[in-house]
Amino acid sequence: MQKEIKKIGVLTSGGDAPGMNAAIRAVVRSCAYHGVGCAGIFRGYQGLIENDIEDLDARSVRNIISRGGTFLKSARSNEFKTPEGRKKAYDNLKAAGVDALIVIGGDGTFTGGLLFEKEHDFPVVGIPATIDNDISGTDFTIGYDTALNTVVEAIDKIRDTASSHNRLFLVEVMGRDAGAIALNSGIGAGAEEILIPEEDEGIDRLISSLKKSEKSGKTSSIIVVAEGDKSGKNIFELAEFIDSTLGGYDIRVSVLGHIQRGGSPSCFDRVLASKLGVGAVDAVLDGKRNIMIGIHHQKVITVSLETGIKGEDKFDRDLRRVADITSI
Ligand code: ATP
Repeated sequence: MQKEIKKIGVLTSGGDAPGMNAAIRAVVRSCAYHGVGCAGIFRGYQGLIENDIEDLDARSVRNIISRGGTFLKSARSNEFKTPEGRKKAYDNLKAAGVDALIVIGGDGTFTGGLLFEKEHDFPVVGIPATIDNDISGTDFTIGYDTALNTVVEAIDKIRDTASSHNRLFLVEVMGRDAGAIALNSGIGAGAEEILIPEEDEGIDRLISSLKKSEKSGKTSSIIVVAEGDKSGKNIFELAEFIDSTLGGYDIRVSVLGHIQRGGSPSCFDRVLASKLGVGAVDAVLDGKRNIMIGIHHQKVITVSLETGIKGEDKFDRDLRRVADITSI
């Protein structure tokens, strides 16, 4: 028989993403709505191991929906990768009277959660939050929309200076394994070329595209480069290569870095996080476990945690064609 759920724990783990606070808020208030206790675990799995746990009520999460980052803090924990670390975490949860755990993060967070669930027969439900949108089983992850908007705004600003000086700008955006941010922001900001980890178009294509752009009368260009692009060169080497191959360009490099993670979450991310947070508590109270809450065609769905971890290719190949056509 399913054990009665009297208290749910919630934590954020891995890289932070805008909208995590909105998700925590939804979990906490949903617990209050259902008359179930809620324990906030600070600093992810590491905080759980170190017993950094505090009871939260509906008022504990006031004024956080608009704030980026996560007020519970996030951390990476190597100790949680060991059975001994996970045993400490389990003991602390039991001592705090927690009956189920909601983990907000990416695939690493879910991998840890799944191991924990299996080892200690403890219900775990995942909420996908990562700016890369690289989790399978959900159309969107929390933070992705905000990150995209941040990147487009930054590239728009770079475009202003690029066109005033006839410059070629290489803009590096986040995405070691997934090009969703690069491809979408590149189309949204009108980039001439977009380099992503999913495709190796070859450096020759980039050079011939730049030549074509010049011939067609373009006086400035923006190239968006995902961190994990397949050119085999880092962005500074790429700039040198273009300079030595083509010459005549005033080339600048801009690495956007961590500004992409910060900032106030977009309304889309706040609503998504609220839906997923409420859905996660519903799932726990329905006795579901070993699952991730996702969104598909605007409806909240549940899939296995394994599905979220699998990292199936979500790359939208049609977008490449759109980028090619709209950048001529
Ligand atoms: P991001 O999208 O930012 O990478 P993530 O959740 O994938 O988010 P990770 O750093 O990969 O971030 O994982 C977060 C935490 O999950 C790790 O610090 C670790 O505590 C736990 N974790 C990850 N992989 C495992 C594993 N194989 N076994 C146990 N715990 C793990």
